[in-house]
Amino acid sequence: ECIGIDAGGTLIKVVYKERDEYLYQTFLSNEVEKLVKWINEWHPNAKLKITGGKQENISKLLHNPHELIDEFEATTIGIKEVLKRAELYLPEKYLLVNVGTGTSIHSMIGENSERLGGSGIGGGTLMGLSYLLTRQKQFEEIMLLAEKGKRTGIDLKVRDIYEGDRSPISGDLTASNFGFLERMTGEELQEDILACLVGMISEAVLMMVMPFAKAIESSTIVFIGSTFHNNALFKKQLQRFEDLFELKLHFPFNGQYSGAHGALLY
Ligand code: ADP
Repeated sequence: ECIGIDAGGTLIKVVYKERDEYLYQTFLSNEVEKLVKWINEWHPNAKLKITGGKQENISKLLHNPHELIDEFEATTIGIKEVLKRAELYLPEKYLLVNVGTGTSIHSMIGENSERLGGSGIGGGTLMGLSYLLTRQKQFEEIMLLAEKGKRTGIDLKVRDIYEGDRSPISGDLTASNFGFLERMTGEELQEDILACLVGMISEAVLMMVMPFAKAIESSTIVFIGSTFHNNALFKKQLQRFEDLFELKLHFPFNGQYSGAHGALLY
């Protein structure tokens, strides 16, 4: 019996097989004792294939036989299994963007993959800034609030600058995230602040990855990572740009388990 574990900065993702079916589990990285208890209780003899930034940390807490696997290799192996299971058939060449605590960007060209870059702006930024701006700490709560929020009056749009005059780009584009100081009263609603925050992070991520897509001459971008898990708003914010920039964006089901799938298959 084998278990694939992707121990990330925020979440520990687990994939294993039982009666030919994949089963999935998630634990918080700061509640690692729950993972240890689960393994000791249910899988005391399983071989663990561990990847992710906290792999060493976890391997020290468990007595099971284990193997440590490079996280970028695990992700790029695992994405293929995730796509197959999601029945998503993509071109030979695409950009893989993992928006976890931070963000990492990989080119996928046939059997070859390469890590092209990364950024500290990711799901962790959403959590940290949400806390600083609104004192909210729960991911689900933050996203529920953000779904209800409006971005007018906090974000400065192109049309807010041109004020009815003809603008060279769409008036609906963001000219400055959180830039409408003139309109701010200090009484902004939490839900509006969080909607703007999700907007800023999705726009920052998209603008950052676009030149990489151009560099590999691909318009297909696949987003994975738990930041998109149950997160219609993030997807919607990114999809707004599909037509404008002639991109095809994908958010495969269970994408956040790519690393754990890859570790298991390794
Ligand atoms: P990592 O591998 O770095 O832990 P993930 O792909 O697991 O990254 O994504 C972590 C991000 O997912 C968090 O920063 C947060 O934005 C989001 N997230 C989704 N669900 C949760 C949750 N239950 N608790 C905390 N963060 C969550």
